[in-house]
Amino acid sequence: MNSTANKIIAIDVEYYQVPLAEVLSDAKHGDHTHFELIVSRITCADGVKGVGYTYTGGKGGRAIYSLLVDELKPFLIGKDANEIDEIWDEIEWHLHYVGRGGLVSFATSAIDIALWDIRCKQLGLPLWKVAGGADNKTNCYAGGIDLNFTQEKLLTNIQGYLDKGFNAVKIKVGKEDYLEDVARVAAVRELIGDDITFMVDANYSLSVDEAIRFSNAIEQYNITWFEEPTIPDDYLGFAKIADNTKIPLAMGENLHTPHEFGYAIAQAKLSYLQPDASNIGGITGFLRVAKMAKENNLPLCSHGMHELHVSLLASQSHAGYLEVHSFPIDQYTKHPLQLDEDGRAIAPDVVGTGVDFDDALLGQYLIKNS
Ligand SMILES: [Mg+2]
Repeated sequence: MNSTANKIIAIDVEYYQVPLAEVLSDAKHGDHTHFELIVSRITCADGVKGVGYTYTGGKGGRAIYSLLVDELKPFLIGKDANEIDEIWDEIEWHLHYVGRGGLVSFATSAIDIALWDIRCKQLGLPLWKVAGGADNKTNCYAGGIDLNFTQEKLLTNIQGYLDKGFNAVKIKVGKEDYLEDVARVAAVRELIGDDITFMVDANYSLSVDEAIRFSNAIEQYNITWFEEPTIPDDYLGFAKIADNTKIPLAMGENLHTPHEFGYAIAQAKLSYLQPDASNIGGITGFLRVAKMAKENNLPLCSHGMHELHVSLLASQSHAGYLEVHSFPIDQYTKHPLQLDEDGRAIAPDVVGTGVDFDDALLGQYLIKNS
């Protein structure tokens, strides 16, 4: 290894606010009008550059930007970009007191993904091969953020997913009156027929007892998973829901360290794990969770940033479903997500992570950079 050539000599950070085409709502986050994108561009002494990023649902991005510019940039300049695991562990302990997870995990992700981009470029390979190489395709589903939609609009939206070639869909639940959720689930199942995979997501809005009541009320509609029925910290509450219902449970987007996944796997009786490389410490954190999933015979799924996760899930032999998220980050890249004729998502066959932001599309949304 030529550590001089791999030395990190520059880290440039960009902060964007990208508007959504329409307001999207779920039970706990409320209305989304835009998403934030925080991009880090790392340059090595030999001139190789890597691009990493993280995103939010519209809040907290400036703090992540500050962590990158004020804390991580000075900490990482001069380090060897190839020592990805070591850097990951060093960041964890450098900021441990203020960041056991949370915003620090988002900032770490932006750095780590850039380092993996550099690794792939130095190897001359696409990410799906470097991360595991099991396949270049993965099962996927369209994840609606649609709790604010009328039932009529909900069904139109789901039909749109089917028309695009998806054969799996997810809707939000968590209405004031749970019977309204039950009616929406019934209407969607009637629309999609028996052959389409169907999941629901409450964004942790229900109590344990409410979740049990709701799960039992929709059991007849063949639901593949019930995502985040209650608060993500209540692992034993999840276990109680699992013990009293038949629909398998899923979570992960709010577990921001591999440690949290470890406890959740041990205690929450989950059937699907859904890490997000934007908040679990990038590709390194994601693959650490992937390893834990494999050891526990759990299918590995994902949340958000499908333009990156498509390569990570395809790379793993125990992949479950890629979430194709309603934040269209991929539309601002040079490789928007593609499905094959069977509704499977195809990992980009380009050198690097496959996420190349298109400045002509994204540049207008830049708020600040350093
Ligand atoms: Mg979710």
